[in-house]
Order: sequence, then C-alpha cells, then structure tokens
Amino acid sequence: MLSIKNLHAKIEEKNILKGLDLTINPGEVHAIMGPNGAGKSTLGNVLAGREDYEVTDGKALFHGEDILELDPEERARKGLFLAFQYPVEIPGVSNMEFLKASVDAVRESKGLEPYSSVDFIKLAREKSKAVDLSADFLKRGVNEGFSGGEKKRNELLQMMLLEPSLCILDETDSGLDIDALQVVAKGVNELRSKDRSFIVVTHYQRLLDYIVPDFVHVLAGGKIVKSGGSELAKELEAQGYGWIDQENA
Ligand code: ADP
Ligand code: MG
Ligand code: MG
Repeated sequence: MLSIKNLHAKIEEKNILKGLDLTINPGEVHAIMGPNGAGKSTLGNVLAGREDYEVTDGKALFHGEDILELDPEERARKGLFLAFQYPVEIPGVSNMEFLKASVDAVRESKGLEPYSSVDFIKLAREKSKAVDLSADFLKRGVNEGFSGGEKKRNELLQMMLLEPSLCILDETDSGLDIDALQVVAKGVNELRSKDRSFIVVTHYQRLLDYIVPDFVHVLAGGKIVKSGGSELAKELEAQGYGWIDQENA
C-alpha cells in the first residue's frame, strides 16, 4: 500500500525528516508516536502534499506510484486521506456542499458518475447519524464554529464518505473528551478492513486502547528509531522516550 524509503524533508531550511523508512501493507494500522517536534505532523503533511514542506530525498510509493510529485488533490483522488490536526474553516461553503464536491471528485477519478443531490443528501444524513452528528450540522459552514469533538467527528464522516485506502489521523485524540474519543475510535474501527490502512499519530497510549494498532513506531530525530507491536505503546507510556535515546546511543 505505502512504501516510504529514505524520506528527507525540510521546512524553512530546517531539516526535519532525515531518512525515514516505513512500509504499510493493506489492512494494517500503524501508530506513530514520538517526542514533541520529532516530525510526526511533518510526515503526515509531506504525504498529503502540503506545500510548505520541501522533500529533498527519498520516495513514497502509494499503490506502487511515487506520490511526492503529485498535488494534494490528486493524492486524495488516489485514496489518501489526511485528517488535519487543526482542520480549516471554510466560511460560506456548507459542509454538505464540501462533502459532495470531495466525494464526486473521487468518484470521477474512478470513472463513476457524480451523486444526484437527493442521493447524496440521503447518504450523508445516514452516515452523520453513525458518527452522532445532527442533520443540521451538514448545513453549517465547513468547520465553522465546530467544537473540537465535532471537527473530529466530521473528519470521520469525511472518511466514511470518501472511502480512502490510506487514512492518516494526526492527533485525533487531542482535545477530545472520553465520549468523543470513543465515538471516533468506534468509527475508525468500523472503517478498518482488509483493503484499508491507517497511520495514527498520537502522543498518548489512551487512544490506542480503543484503536489497537498492528504496529507501533517511534519517530525521533527525523526517522523511525524503534518499531514493535501494540505493547510498545504501553512501554512508552510507562517509561517515556529517554530509554530509546540511550538504546540508540
Ligand atoms: P510533531 O508533530 O512530531 O510534534 P512537527 O512535525 O509538527 O512535530 O514539527 C517538527 C519540527 O518542525 C519542529 O521543530 C517544528 O518546530 C518545525 N516546524 C513545523 N512547522 C514549521 C513551520 N511552518 N516553520 C518552521 N518550522 C516548523
Ligand atoms: Mg506537535
Ligand atoms: Mg504534530
């Protein structure tokens, strides 16, 4: 699904990723943890194609194709989804319009007809219910005045409608109360399938009690310095990151 090799990236002349390797097979959930400022969000942003970042070396093959040269929309159409740490507001565009445009763009790239408005409204309402968002919510501006929990549930709704093959969730747990966290985790778990993979970036083990990953990686100093199973997250929670620095020293 995704094969990242020797990825180097910088922002504002500061090297952040320094030779990162990561392989993700279909159906796998990979958690990425690591100290503040390690480059976790940078990794997600580089994969999604945000323009502030400059890739200076390496490859990211997504379904066998290097996506690093593609613009963000093309990547999304190929099935990549990044749930932003701080989702943007788009005043004046309703959530429903935004969702329909996004879904239709993905459908078009698959050779499918756009949804009729009636069909899409029906589908969006049905999926909104599943993530505990009211129908009124769909009429509001994109992310306009959404609470932290609403933004996260909205991302989940986007994922349900877009049906991406690789979802990158960056600190989906930040600012969520326990109930909202469980709604999000339940939604993610329902979206898990043999064809869909996830990269879950998180600071805390807590989210991983609900979304149990197949692999846990520690990103430090711009690369993956340790990988393990879900038990690694528990070790990190108990011991912090210092022991990994010593192991690597
Ligand atoms: P993490 O998500 O692991 O906490 P980030 O990927 O957000 O880390 O940041 C990695 C490093 O890049 C940090 O040192 C951060 O200060 C720096 N950085 C991130 N965004 C910018 C930016 N727009 N301009 C300058 N430096 C940045
Ligand atoms: Mg951070
Ligand atoms: Mg971050």
